[in-house]
Amino acid sequence: MRSLSGRELAGQIRAATADLAARLTAAGSPPRLAIVTATADESSAWYVRSLTRAADKVGIACQVAELVEDISKTLSMLSADPLVHGIILATPLPDGARLAALAEAIDPAKDVDGASPASLGRLMTGERGFAPATAEAVVRLLDYHGVALGGTRVVVVGRSAIVGKPVTHLLLDRDATVTVCHSRTRDLASVTSSAEVLVVAAGRPGLIGVDHVAPGATVVDVGTNVLESGELTGDVAPEVAAVAGALSPVPGGVGPVTTALLLQHVVEAAGPP
Ligand code: NAP
Repeated sequence: MRSLSGRELAGQIRAATADLAARLTAAGSPPRLAIVTATADESSAWYVRSLTRAADKVGIACQVAELVEDISKTLSMLSADPLVHGIILATPLPDGARLAALAEAIDPAKDVDGASPASLGRLMTGERGFAPATAEAVVRLLDYHGVALGGTRVVVVGRSAIVGKPVTHLLLDRDATVTVCHSRTRDLASVTSSAEVLVVAAGRPGLIGVDHVAPGATVVDVGTNVLESGELTGDVAPEVAAVAGALSPVPGGVGPVTTALLLQHVVEAAGPP
């Protein structure tokens, strides 16, 4: 079984991003990312810390607006700030709040995680815009490891607006034949085991077992689940490694590529030096 590691690819993206960030800074336009949080959730705090550290390493400045009450107003102000090039609204959001609805206040040119309805609409219609970084990371990881997509039978498990649906559109754009599964899918294993490439983004540890995977299939595990032990695990059971032809590890697969692409989007949003 081949491991679809994302570390080397992420390193390459980071190096190109750092180069562009240095040139932007030298030209008097240092790239800046704003992160907005609205809850005191530990996973959100962890995400902000790791993203800030990663941005710092490639020469992107970060500003964090924490525990914001009027999220739309803050996003609108940041959208109007010429010194801010990228804006991310961290999840989880307060109960009842919807990411896409709030992200509507982000200028699409600064929507580096492709969260707003405008960005998602552009993705669907093939117009220029930022795709959600995780969805883009899945396709970049498959490309990097030479997995063919044209005409390939791909099954996506998960239909969220930030992962499942955008990755489906990106795969369609690459001429894959895509089937999408979700919590109401009957007999999940019968659908997933028809896949040549299986992309899993459900947030359910161990959801995909050996019965769900065709021998030799390529499996991309997007899931990031923190177990009670503190261990990070994906949605794919470890036994699948014995059946799959290739499998992305968690951690070290989609995750590092996602972070690297988010930062690449920030320097792209800052424009050419
Ligand atoms: P989400 O909004 O909770 O969506 C989960 C999707 O999985 C839903 O569409 C849900 O179906 C489906 N699902 C849940 N249980 C299922 C089951 N038993 N069988 C089939 N489908 C099932 O989650 P998300 O934001 O898309 O994230 C998915 C996973 O990716 C999470 O583990 C998250 O932490 C991870 N993630 C990783 C990265 C990264 O950089 N690596 C980035 C973002 C997210 P319904 O629509 O029917 O409810």
